[in-house]
Amino acid sequence: MLARAMGQLALEPSDLRRTSTGGDGRLRTYAPATGALLAELQITSDEEVRQIVARARKAQRAWAVLPVDERAQRLLRLRDALADRADELVETLTRECGKPRHEALVQEVTTLLDIIGWFCKHAPDTLATQHLALHLMKHRTSEVHFVPRGVVGVVSPWNFPLVIPMGSVVEALLGGNACVVKPSECTPLVALKAKDIYDSTGLPEDLFGLAIGYGSTGQALIESGIDYCVFTGAVETGRKVAAACGSRLVPCTMELGGKAPLIACEDCDLERTARAVVFGGFANSGQVCISVERVYAHDRVYEPLVDRVRALVGELRQGDPSRDHVDVGAITSSRQIDVAERLIDDALGKGARLVCGGHKLTGGGQFFEPTVLADCNHTMSVMHEEIFGPIVPVMKVMSDDEAISLANDSHLGLNAYVFSKSRDRARRVSERVEAGSVVVNDVLTNYATVEAPFGGIKHSGFGRVHGAESLRDMCHRKHVSFDRLPAPGRDPFWFPYTARSFHWLQRGVRLVFGGGPLGKRIGGLF
Ligand code: NDP
Repeated sequence: MLARAMGQLALEPSDLRRTSTGGDGRLRTYAPATGALLAELQITSDEEVRQIVARARKAQRAWAVLPVDERAQRLLRLRDALADRADELVETLTRECGKPRHEALVQEVTTLLDIIGWFCKHAPDTLATQHLALHLMKHRTSEVHFVPRGVVGVVSPWNFPLVIPMGSVVEALLGGNACVVKPSECTPLVALKAKDIYDSTGLPEDLFGLAIGYGSTGQALIESGIDYCVFTGAVETGRKVAAACGSRLVPCTMELGGKAPLIACEDCDLERTARAVVFGGFANSGQVCISVERVYAHDRVYEPLVDRVRALVGELRQGDPSRDHVDVGAITSSRQIDVAERLIDDALGKGARLVCGGHKLTGGGQFFEPTVLADCNHTMSVMHEEIFGPIVPVMKVMSDDEAISLANDSHLGLNAYVFSKSRDRARRVSERVEAGSVVVNDVLTNYATVEAPFGGIKHSGFGRVHGAESLRDMCHRKHVSFDRLPAPGRDPFWFPYTARSFHWLQRGVRLVFGGGPLGKRIGGLF
């Protein structure tokens, strides 16, 4: 029986709109757990967006000339300030997103602090000029410089409204750029809190700007002359944003939806797998791009796994996270309740078994019961569409091959999970699963593995956040080529082209690249 730690609240879920504008240029944000109005904010106009970007560009010129280690030292002040004011961040995240305080502290604040620390520590080496040993042009030497792009626009979603945009802000600033963020319409207060903390550090205020509003504000940001865009959101929005970036030739990173499969092999540790399904499926009410969105369990473990998951879900406490320590909080965006109801109806109509949950809660706030569906199959939308809510569908499989083939039967490829006691078996399965990241015997941890690239394949997007390469993506690579030997007045490859020089070039090509014994010996040097 699902325990609820919620009191009587004023509004029914159907009464709530997460945010609304009366066409008066204002954005209202509500607490999803209670329906209370939290704030009414002025929407940033398109002209203001352009001004914010122009001020950011001006601030960036002074910032870009600082050595990388100086930028890193200054940005560590931001980490310290965020840590000092972690309580305020947790409070804002809990109220505006409806997420449990543990998740606000661990998955948002702590992960962000660690991301800042790691990038600040490694940025000087990662962005140091690279000296290339040239294989052919031995008379020259090449350097690759990492040059700031300018202003980076970040358009972000509501499910992790602190760590997702602020992680990109820190990467952008370390790369010598300015950054302007368009937070989700559902979570502007988290962004404003982060900006307030940033401004308290003495870092240049205009270097990090905010544009508050709806999708059209995000569009205005992309059209404002930014030099790079990091977009995180749904696949359909991603298509529009990528097209807008493409038409302006603005390079971008696309972090889009996920449909992570969890493959439970016949030799998995049943208790750990069951707990992973519950945590991976219902943390943040399933509103995680790398949530466990479908389980493929081997015939031998299928029923015991479903039974254990049912028991564990029964122990979860759900309710208003700002009043009690609960395990499962509210649904941040009411749209996800409609999606959940539609997917459950479709699955039950096609023969799925409702193991537990299945309904939105009445009594106030936006809550949906953690739901497990068994006996699922690929005719059901719940096995294909991104759920982004508290539903875990489970399907029986007879072999690893079948599980892999079903896992790959998806247009999305962000994350995947494999549970097996055999490292070799897990490796074999993970090599064949189509995903940007595969995690063995664990769930959700790879986003916090800041050393490793994070991102998707297929329609889950392109480009990566985290890892050394994503920091380098914040910069242009500029190749500077120097002469290293005294050079003649006229290069033999320059004009004029003569029969004699052509003859010598032909001989040279044969000598270096030819298949004869001499060519093989000399060519091997190149
Ligand atoms: P949306 O795509 O609805 O929105 C994302 C952001 O884009 C919001 O700030 C939104 O503004 C803005 N936006 C909407 N339309 C436009 C437009 N035409 N031009 C520019 N910006 C626009 O996603 P959600 O906020 O609903 O987030 C959920 C989705 O994000 C899920 O699909 C999830 O999988 C994905 N996600 C992916 C992650 C990853 O790393 N791959 C991580 C986290 C989430 P507004 O809110 O005002 O509409």
